[in-house]
Amino acid sequence: MTAALKDSYNRPIRDLRVSLTDRCNFRCFYCLPHGEPPIAPKEQMLSYEEIEYVCDIFVELGIEKIRLTGGEPMMRRDIETIIEKLSALKARGLQDLALTTNGYFLPDRAQALKDAGLDRITVSLDSLKPDTFKQMTGVDVLDRVLAGIEAAKQARLEPIKINVVVVRNHNEEEVADFAAFAREHDVKMRFIEFMPLDSGHNWSRGDVVSGREIYERINERFPLVALDVFRGSETSSRYRFADGGRGEVGIIAPVTEPFCGACSRIRLTADGQIRTCLFSTVEHSLRDVVRTGATRAEIIDFIESVVLKKEPRHYINEPQFVAPSRSMSFIGG
Ligand code: SAM
Ligand code: SF4
Repeated sequence: MTAALKDSYNRPIRDLRVSLTDRCNFRCFYCLPHGEPPIAPKEQMLSYEEIEYVCDIFVELGIEKIRLTGGEPMMRRDIETIIEKLSALKARGLQDLALTTNGYFLPDRAQALKDAGLDRITVSLDSLKPDTFKQMTGVDVLDRVLAGIEAAKQARLEPIKINVVVVRNHNEEEVADFAAFAREHDVKMRFIEFMPLDSGHNWSRGDVVSGREIYERINERFPLVALDVFRGSETSSRYRFADGGRGEVGIIAPVTEPFCGACSRIRLTADGQIRTCLFSTVEHSLRDVVRTGATRAEIIDFIESVVLKKEPRHYINEPQFVAPSRSMSFIGG
């Protein structure tokens, strides 16, 4: 057994995010406002066999959690096959297989994902008001996404998490309503600060609603109690409701309260590039290494050497910050 992956700051690397596609059927203004730039040709994308092969190696190297993302991962037709193959890695040490989706395809396909071996799901939902939902995502499908969340519940893809990107003058007034939603539906809310990862490069600091403000808005209506859990590499500060209400609140504040010191993540893009940070400005082509016929030992050497290049932290709050050229939809959020 090879020793677990560690970066040069002694952080163990346990979480892998795999982007399955750069394509998306939504146009969230904080991610892909102008739609997809020209998509890389299909032959540059990793096939499901390649994804299975490299994930098998990552699990050998100590990866315990894999999250499938994108783009919209459910636009990939072979997603059930991918889940089936990766789910088999649980016999080799994988502990958790999750998926982040915009929820559009869930009403018809949640059960198939569960049957293929998916453990749990995160659904993005930025507003409970049809108009705001349309304005933030570019599509008028709030009811369908809500039906998708219900289908995920029926399929027991639990615990269900709901991601909300909170953006000034768009949905900050709804934060406490989302807490009410968590209580009613017994789901875990994850409120995320808006990060400079939009393809339109329109992010500005004034658009960020801080984690502190999100906390205060919820705590005012539904008093919160911090969950007494070891945060470890968790990105969110987590809270339960003081009155014992169902559900949970998590606040992810990478802009105002960076948590890089405990980061345990690396990312693999749909075209097979390893990214060691959301904000990396360089990528490392695992695809080329695999396709040029490297042996398993050579691939392991490559991954270990890339992980050693993991950045100590992001520089969003510093003058020298340069936003990555690829948006969240390409990096795999
Ligand atoms: N399409 C799927 C979805 O929307 O859930 C998966 C990919 S999406 C890139 C993953 C997560 O990143 C979503 O919850 C989305 O809201 C979040 N995200 C995208 N752009 C972001 C940004 N600029 N700042 C913060 N979160 C962002
Ligand atoms: Fe698509 Fe997800 Fe980006 Fe929205 S956040 S545009 S659903 S990839």
